[in-house]
Amino acid sequence: MTADSDSSLYRQIVENTSFGLLLTDLDGNILYANPRQCEASGYAVDELIGRNTRLFRSEKTPIELYRQLWATIAAGGIWHGEMINRRKNGDLVNEYIRISPVRDGEGGIVGYLAIKEEHFARDANSELAGRLSTMDALTGLPNRDSLLSQLGEIISNSHASRRGFALLLIDIDRFHRLNEKLGQIGADHILLEIVSRLAEGIRADDLAARVGGDEFALVLRSINAETLCAEMASRVVNALAKPFHVDGQDCQLTVSIGIARYPTDGRNAESLLRTAYVALEDSKRAGGGQYCFYVRKNGSGTNGGNDLTNELRDVVLSNQLRLHFQPQLSLLSGEIVGVEALVRWQHPERGLIPPNAFIPIAEESGVIIAIGEWVLAEACRQMKAWHDAGLAQIRIAVNLSARHFHLATLPDTVADVLASTGLAARFLELELTESAMMHDAAKAVRTVDRLKQLGVRISLDDFGTGYSSLAYLSRFAIDRLKVDQSFIRDITSNPVNASITTATIAMAHKLAKVVIAEGVETEAQMHFLRRHDCDEMQGFLFSKALPADELEIVLRKGHRLNFDLATANSDQPALLLVDDEPSILNALRRLFRRAGYRVLTANGGAEALELLAVNPVQIIISDQRMPEMSGVEFLSRVKDLYPQTVRMVLSGYSELSAVTDAINRGAIWKYINKPWDDDALLQEVRNAFHMIRSP
Ligand code: C2E
Ligand code: MG
Ligand code: MG
Repeated sequence: MTADSDSSLYRQIVENTSFGLLLTDLDGNILYANPRQCEASGYAVDELIGRNTRLFRSEKTPIELYRQLWATIAAGGIWHGEMINRRKNGDLVNEYIRISPVRDGEGGIVGYLAIKEEHFARDANSELAGRLSTMDALTGLPNRDSLLSQLGEIISNSHASRRGFALLLIDIDRFHRLNEKLGQIGADHILLEIVSRLAEGIRADDLAARVGGDEFALVLRSINAETLCAEMASRVVNALAKPFHVDGQDCQLTVSIGIARYPTDGRNAESLLRTAYVALEDSKRAGGGQYCFYVRKNGSGTNGGNDLTNELRDVVLSNQLRLHFQPQLSLLSGEIVGVEALVRWQHPERGLIPPNAFIPIAEESGVIIAIGEWVLAEACRQMKAWHDAGLAQIRIAVNLSARHFHLATLPDTVADVLASTGLAARFLELELTESAMMHDAAKAVRTVDRLKQLGVRISLDDFGTGYSSLAYLSRFAIDRLKVDQSFIRDITSNPVNASITTATIAMAHKLAKVVIAEGVETEAQMHFLRRHDCDEMQGFLFSKALPADELEIVLRKGHRLNFDLATANSDQPALLLVDDEPSILNALRRLFRRAGYRVLTANGGAEALELLAVNPVQIIISDQRMPEMSGVEFLSRVKDLYPQTVRMVLSGYSELSAVTDAINRGAIWKYINKPWDDDALLQEVRNAFHMIRSP
């Protein structure tokens, strides 16, 4: 066949195929349409050439779909999907379309080819018709019905995983005014922009829906802790507070958010949505531009949250706030190097209320600013008084809420407080959270810089619980990272959290930042952190937060951390024996003691991990069959936590397959048959020590 006959063959195929074909340029202007396409759309071919494919659009296809389409093909991808288009005579036609880029000889994209197949729009069972009934036409998000049915599913998953979740209802304040001002098209633009800002802020498995004209819903899967919900809600409030640009004009809006949490606020989809609406109402009543949690109404019909809110309003004036101080200690010298000021509310009837019970409410209502200013001034005053009394020259750390941090006047306030109390700036440290820095990073960087110019220190609180990376945070002039307690809690037994912490320490040191561990409760945690070069710690191991007079005593007495190890004598080779059988443990202990080893013993994996955190150990011999944790499991964790150790397992013949598998993974160096031969075992251990000394 010749080239000519080839091309006439192609032409025949193209002209007679039962698919509609369209060739366009890069902007969607039609270069070619085949007869089937003309027939399907009702236009003659010369009515199509040179026109834009927008010609076929009906308002029935979600705008989001067009966005996806253009994003896909402009990036060189192939898009396929369904659309409802309009014929020349106005009828709707349901089409399945596949669009691919057309490339020139060098591979550059020069246009697009669309292949279309008609579906019958009146077919009530059409997949698209079905999907459109669950989808919001403007935004492409699930609509209210779809949200309700998906909530049902999320509730059953939540049961299975035993993790709660939260529903946030977001309503635009005074949306009708925007509608009047911008017209419907302008208002639609804003709605679409809102969707993309929401999409930026949520995690991949969260769910967004449009449940009314100006109402959106967010489902935060597996999050229902109050602080995390509050953090998310304030991110949404902030993200939507930035100006919108529509038709050359700037406009601003605020939103109100109602938060309902599963399972406490509702046990099924409808009741959860209802309680979220109640919370939304509360938020609107409080003036909009904020979020409210659902609070169960009590008998008298008042909202408990609002009670607290009302009382909080004059908490500062009525002199009911108290500061407690928790020591921060150097892991090098063991000395107290600072204290963190933690606020409490001395309520006349309810007693001492912890901050987590009122700070979120104070943030909602804005009272947090007054509280924050009081805390700042009181903390600086107290520290200056201690300095003047001749106590150690240590620093004071003060927590700043995100809302306070974003207040333009904050640096001036800080400067005023320092001037009026006379505390030198270098003794003040401000604790910020990641969420405070996430919103409007450029502005946040400037604020941090302005604070640093005053000479105060900045630390990043609860590090690791937010969404940002250390790389992102390196843009900020932060002095100190506070590794969150959730990582410290199981640091001696959970290799993942241990690695996160040790990697954080290493990276922070590279970036010349100091690392402090929060919530250190045990000696084992302290020694582990110390051995991994963590600089400082804070936690109940040394002291909880104390009232000023009690802390003063601690400072006067010069209390400090004690790093002494009861068993320490690290010159002697140390061996850890793990077995749940006391008689075996005793026999092994005697054997190795006689041979001159320093011996530690534990009756199970958990106890052994605690010992390992505190003591330098070179060799570990563990029984395989133990009730709480098998020897293989224990030694696998040890491999991740302390890779330099030599690990051996004592096992009976029947457990051999699990053990050989662990040997292959490198978790275990040797296995020793039970019952063992004393001389052979001693020889193995000598070999092991030899191996460590001359690797
Ligand atoms: P945070 O800043 O991360 O403070 C540490 C919290 O952990 C404190 O709780 C402290 O008592 C507690 N903690 C310290 N060591 C241990 C430990 O070893 N084990 C355990 N389980 N907990 C430990 P607290 O005082 O209840 O404060 C809770 C949160 O309230 C603070 O978390 C902070 O986010 C906020 N907060 C406290 N005071 C203020 C304040 O003045 N302003 C602002 N904006 N927030 C504050
Ligand atoms: Mg803190
Ligand atoms: Mg913290």
